[in-house]
Amino acid sequence: MNAMHVSDTAPTGAKPGGTTPASAVDPVCGMTVDPARTHLHTVHEGKEYFFCSESCLRRFRSDPAAFLKPPDSAAERPNRSTASGR
Ligand SMILES: [Zn+2]
Repeated sequence: MNAMHVSDTAPTGAKPGGTTPASAVDPVCGMTVDPARTHLHTVHEGKEYFFCSESCLRRFRSDPAAFLKPPDSAAERPNRSTASGR
């Protein structure tokens, strides 16, 4: 009895997940910058930000919150005026 057992070796395409982003966006002007090629960066609230120029970095440091607006800043709340009562 010759049982030919073929081990099904699936080609695992394990891609090396890079932790360092290939590119970053300057939060001040919106430019795409290469983190590996700039020394203009700062860490704000545990996150690292990169900048295209020193002026952008300075502006960000002076007021980080101004450039980090939440996506839903204008949160509209459907507050229906339920006029109950008499
Ligand atoms: Zn910039």
